[in-house]
Amino acid sequence: RPVLAVRDVHRSFGMDTALRGVDLEVQPGEILAIMGPSGSGKSTLLHILAGVLTPDSGSAHYGSTVTSDLGEAARAKLRLSEFGFIFQFGQLLPDLSAVDNVSLPLLIAGQSREVAVRQARRWLERLGLAEHAEKLPSELSGGQAQRVAIARALVTAPKVIFADEPTGALDSLSAEQVMLTLTELSRASGTTVVLVTHDARTAAYADREVVVRDGRLSGSAR
Ligand code: ADP
Ligand code: ADP
Repeated sequence: RPVLAVRDVHRSFGMDTALRGVDLEVQPGEILAIMGPSGSGKSTLLHILAGVLTPDSGSAHYGSTVTSDLGEAARAKLRLSEFGFIFQFGQLLPDLSAVDNVSLPLLIAGQSREVAVRQARRWLERLGLAEHAEKLPSELSGGQAQRVAIARALVTAPKVIFADEPTGALDSLSAEQVMLTLTELSRASGTTVVLVTHDARTAAYADREVVVRDGRLSGSAR
């Protein structure tokens, strides 16, 4: 049974049609790369899978939950409890240290500060960032900041990680390290990963690639 699915999904923004009939299933533990040219609808598809956006028609599913039938508040709650998010850049809060950034989702989830900080340090250690725990985002390299973002996405033990161009702002060596880290951790924990990228080397870390062209899935690249 798929962990995520969309069925005949259509979505427009005013006159702009982003998705025109997309069907997709993601299996538990799968690492899926969504590829395609800029403006083809990749981010919109990711956002509908993640319950950030709802489709105009068709349906979106998380397990047995029809997320496209839920209101914004219920989807926000689902995202907080089940999903982790990684973006291209600018996602760490600039005035908080690495360890405070990673603690934040646990504090929001109601954990005590002591537990949150302990867990955050454990994840930073696991990502080889222990000595950077007290640094501000501006004191980290792009690759280090992106690994802190991975720690922050994983600290709540989400079922699914959604990553929108996670290597888009990185040089190729940092991009490789980030993808290795992300895929190793997700394989170790069985976490499903859905990532959007237009970089073939980033997509090569996935188990499967699908390509979006002009709002439609144009088949699997492999
Ligand atoms: P990508 O790097 O995936 O192409 P964009 O820079 O196009 O992303 O878009 C980034 C964010 O802005 C996405 O969340 C997308 O939904 C939103 N967005 C894209 N195009 C527009 C637009 N024309 N007007 C408003 N928001 C947009
Ligand atoms: P991609 O991620 O492949 O670059 P997007 O899903 O961001 O593509 O965008 C697909 C189309 O939908 C584009 O034409 C984009 O301008 C439009 N779009 C996406 N998000 C928005 C938005 N929030 N408001 C207006 N137009 C949007």
